[in-house]
Amino acid sequence: MTKIAFVGLGNMGGPMAANLVKAGHDVRGFDLSEASVQAAAASGVNAASSLSEAVRDADCVITMLPKGQHVIAVWSDLTTLLPEGTLVIDCSTVDVESARKAHQLAGAMNCVSLDAPVSGGTGGATAGTLTFMVGGSEKAFAAGRPILEAMGKKIVHCGGAGAGQAAKICNNMILGISMIGVCEAFGLAEKLGLSHQALFDVASTSSGQCWSLTTYCPVPGPVPTSPANNDYKPGFAAALMLKDLMLSQEASRQSGAATPLGQHAAELYAEFEKAGHGGDDFSAIIHMLREKAGT
Ligand code: NAD
Repeated sequence: MTKIAFVGLGNMGGPMAANLVKAGHDVRGFDLSEASVQAAAASGVNAASSLSEAVRDADCVITMLPKGQHVIAVWSDLTTLLPEGTLVIDCSTVDVESARKAHQLAGAMNCVSLDAPVSGGTGGATAGTLTFMVGGSEKAFAAGRPILEAMGKKIVHCGGAGAGQAAKICNNMILGISMIGVCEAFGLAEKLGLSHQALFDVASTSSGQCWSLTTYCPVPGPVPTSPANNDYKPGFAAALMLKDLMLSQEASRQSGAATPLGQHAAELYAEFEKAGHGGDDFSAIIHMLREKAGT
């Protein structure tokens, strides 16, 4: 049993903390939202009323917060609260620069740290089947792995500080671009009089095969479990897709990588969100693309 402080008990953090409890860990949770703390308490998390109360005597601190600025603010506060050697893990999706800054803050307190963003969404968080993409030293990874295993089914050590975030935003850039590609292909098929099912049957077993087609197929029918069959309820909300595409664009600018399709995908998702669809599943962008064709 490890004493774990969990900071950020929202849609993802709440069920992740619950899985740590199920695995037998002693978990103390804190969130700025009292309702989130109470919801976590119902699943066995010990409620803390402040960050300092949550981290007292903890062997490990996990943060699951909205953005880089929140992670830096909380990790800065931790500098005065944690004893040397504490393991600190951030599971939020943030920009690579903030992730590296967080590692530096942990290093300055002689703590060991990991950036460990996830994929799998709220369903994976609840089921304990998340994939963790992890950046940090071998020593930190060895310490963090058994804890992450209580919340996920695949734990990948991607490299040093920030490598987990780098893997996450590269993967999600592929996802955003591929979803638009799949939507465009269905739009073209409609114009050419080709049925959705025929395109699916061919592309899903040919070189056009990809997750956006075979798991999140953007038209109703071919994949009964895809959000298109559930009125495009997320799933993976377009606003979160946009957030991740913006992070990959920021990283492209900073690193000097050329990502023109990533840039275009970010522009299209920004337009989709501006039109009021940030809460729709990201596959619903097929509607906006059809509108561009005037149908
Ligand atoms: P959320 O908004 O539901 O939860 C974030 C929580 O952090 C909120 O409850 C908020 O009150 C709390 N918080 C903010 N600042 C705080 C502070 N200083 N101290 C304590 N608590 C604070 O968001 P979420 O959906 O749980 O996502 C969390 C992270 O996981 C994000 O970075 C997101 O991009 C990433 N993520 C989300 C999903 C998803 O499907 N929701 C999937 C993968 C990754």
